[in-house]
Formats: sequence, structure tokens, C-alpha cells
Amino acid sequence: DMMTATVGEALSGEEAVELAKRHLVQPWPTAGEIGAEARSLIGEGEGIYITDGSGKKLIDGPAGMWCTNVGHRREELARVMYDQAMQLSYNTPWYTMNEASAVLAERIAGHAPGDLSHVFFTTGGSSAVESALRFMQFYNNVRGRTEKKLILSRGGAYHGSTYLSASLNGRPRDRDWMDGADDLVVKLSSPDPFRRPAGMSIAAFTDSLVAEFEETVKRIGADKIGAFVGEPVQASGGVIVPPENYLPRIRKICRDNDILYVSDEVVTAFGRLGHVFASEDVFGIDPDIITFAKGVTSGYFPLGGMIVSERLLQELRRSNHPSAMYAHGLTYSSHPVGCAVALKNLDLLEGGILAHARAVAPYFQAQLKTLEELPLVGEVRGVGLMACVECVADRDSKNPLELDRNVGMRIDAHCHELGLLVRPLINMCVMSPPLTITKEQIDDMVGILREGISRTMEDLRKEGVW
Ligand code: PMP
Repeated sequence: DMMTATVGEALSGEEAVELAKRHLVQPWPTAGEIGAEARSLIGEGEGIYITDGSGKKLIDGPAGMWCTNVGHRREELARVMYDQAMQLSYNTPWYTMNEASAVLAERIAGHAPGDLSHVFFTTGGSSAVESALRFMQFYNNVRGRTEKKLILSRGGAYHGSTYLSASLNGRPRDRDWMDGADDLVVKLSSPDPFRRPAGMSIAAFTDSLVAEFEETVKRIGADKIGAFVGEPVQASGGVIVPPENYLPRIRKICRDNDILYVSDEVVTAFGRLGHVFASEDVFGIDPDIITFAKGVTSGYFPLGGMIVSERLLQELRRSNHPSAMYAHGLTYSSHPVGCAVALKNLDLLEGGILAHARAVAPYFQAQLKTLEELPLVGEVRGVGLMACVECVADRDSKNPLELDRNVGMRIDAHCHELGLLVRPLINMCVMSPPLTITKEQIDDMVGILREGISRTMEDLRKEGVW
């Protein structure tokens, strides 16, 4: 009973899942399931909704992976990709360039803080972070500071799935079974106020994080440290919103010590926090490099990039090694279809969606916050249109006990039944819907989440584990 299929042939949801189990290796599999997993089929999307293989309509709670910012099935975005592909589907970025990439670079630089002036386009977030790290290595080599290469990262961080970017990842499960360039990376604490030491004030916690950073620079030596890489809000780590003033203080230490500050805005840029970039507009910092991806095309095309400061480029141009080469480039750098759709996507964001996101964010946060009434919920936190519901077995100890493991998956299963896709992260549920979500749709989303968590509590009680 060989099953074969071609694109466009109508398969049932089960048939498609069966094909995937036979032939598709999906991201983030376990050893026990690799190449044989049954994941939910998503058949189509429209606005903030997606439809699963059985025809069930769901609110796209995580906007794919924090990316479908302007929502699904935007005809103007589909049209611009078609038009660009019909005009020019590809050009080599090694010795030619296309118009869309130049126009997009200028638009992006116009929104970027400080003197960030030039954009290098990549295929996504990992390649953007990788490009920034290799740029730091090149920059310090050309300046003759060949020992200044260590990278500071933090617990709870997620920066990618290429070797060096993945070496920065700070969530334990990212590294438990995977190797990394550990000799190149130094890990600091996550700025997670919820998990700060018991009894410590937020102000004292912030001071302790800054002191740790300063002491690390002193201990290792600024002449050995090339860059700090940080998400303004640690996204996959559980929407960790740092305490006020922490980021500006870290930024100052970096400047004082000639350490490049790389702000990883793969999640936070292009509207998630109501602005094109959040570094300056939300957190008051002007980084040396910003990395972005995801929302730049609202996920319609794989595109990312890094924005580099004019000062760094000038230093390189004036260096004693004018023929030194930044031997780094991707076949799909500056892809014309990606750049064209990003331009149209930026039109939509600037044309009202950013303003809508800013207007609706307080309501989104306030409604989700009401879930703290449920005894399983330890904290609801967030900023802009990203939030996290963190479940705890016991509120006083905030203990992620064994029952917490996969409690997010239990909630997701109930919510799926009720019409909401949730992104489960062990004991957490992350919400980052398309930015076009209305107040009524927020009510629906929170109502379903409340019911999904309530049903999970019932299950846990029935099983006698809670
Ligand atoms: N940086 C951050 C902050 C991310 O959240 C992600 C992806 N979730 C990445 C980098 C990697 O991006 P990509 O998956 O597009 O390679």
C-alpha cells in the first residue's frame, strides 16, 4: 500500500500526517520519535486563524513561531511575491544586487536606533546571529585584537540552531544532548524577576545582575571579550521581561569595555512590542548590531538580517588591512522575493498595524493577567503582544515539580479542542498572536485558555498528582 502524493493533491489530514511520519524529519524531535512523529496538520490560515487537518478553526496563539505578525492570507503580500518572482526571481548577491534589497535596507536603517546604518540580509534568525558573531570575530581580527573573541550570553537565551548561535543557547534542554563551542561562550544569569532569590527586591536583583556582568568582565578581562548577545525580552525562555534599567546598565558596561552589544530582536522587531525595533523605543538602548528575522516578512518568506553601526564599518574601512575579507555570504542573502515581501509587510505595519498593536497591548496583558486567579498559574507576564502563563505546582515555592513537566502540553491539548493553538514550553504557555487581533478575539483567546487550564487542573486532581 505505497502512498504517494504530489503537491496540490487533496489528502485527508490523517493521510498527510501518515506521509510525514514515514518521510519527514521535523524540527526538535526526541530520539524516541525522530522521523516518526505525528504532529497536527495545519491546512490553511486566514487573519488570526488557522485550520487543522480535521477542518477545525483555531486562533493562532503563537502566530506560528512569533512571526505571522500581519496575519495569514494577506493577498497583497502574496501578490508582491508573485510580481517580484515574475520580474526577477533570484540574482547572485556575490557580484550583483537587486533593487528591493537596497530599498528595504534603507527603510530598515531609517527605523534603526543610533548610527545603525547598513543591513546584511540572511535567511532567518540563526544565520543573522551567526553573521553578527562572525562579524565580531572579523572586526577584532582586523583591529589586531585577535584575543578579543569571547561571547557573553545568558541562561534562558535562545539565539539559533547553527553551531555558534546554538552555543549561546541557555535553556538546559537545548544543550543536554547537543555539543557547542563552549570555549567561546561565557554564560551569565537570566534576568528573570520571577525566579529571583526569595526575599530579594527587584532593585537588589537588578544590582546583582549588573554586578555579575561587571565581575565577569573584570575576571576574564575586557581584552578577551568580543560581544554580548541578548534578546531584549527572552522569548523562548518564557517571555522574560528584564527589570527596568538592567539593559541600559549592561549596554554602558559594554561601551566602556569595547564589547559589541548585539541586540537579538528576531522576536521583538517588526511590531511584536508595537515598534519596528524595541531596543531603543521600549528599552532605551542603542546597540552596535541588531539581528532580526520572523516579523520582517511576517513569516511569508524566510528572511533575516543584521543591522551594523556606521562606526564599526568606518573603522574597518580605515584599518591597516584594507584587503582583509569578511569571508561570509549566503546564496540567498538579499533575496529579491523576500525583500519585496518585507517592503510590503513594512507598509502594512506602518500603515496602522503598529499603532493597533500599541493600542491593544494593555488590554491583551490585562486580560491574560486575570488567569493568575487560577491556582495552577504562578505568574502571567509579558510586554506588547507577547506573554507567558507560567504554571507552578506550588505557588509559595514556585516549584516546577515533576508534575509541571509537560503541563503546557496538557493545556495545549485542551485548548486545541476548544479552538486555540498554544505554544507549550514545559510548564509554560506562550501567547504571541498576530498583531491584528481585536479585543473581542482577545476575549475569546483568554476564555479558551482559562477553560483549558481549568480542565488541566481537573485532570491533575483526578490523577491525584496535584
Ligand atoms: N533568535 C531568537 C531570539 C529567536 O527566537 C530565534 C528563533 N526562535 C532565533 C534567533 C533563530 O531564528 P531562526 O529559527 O529563524 O533561525
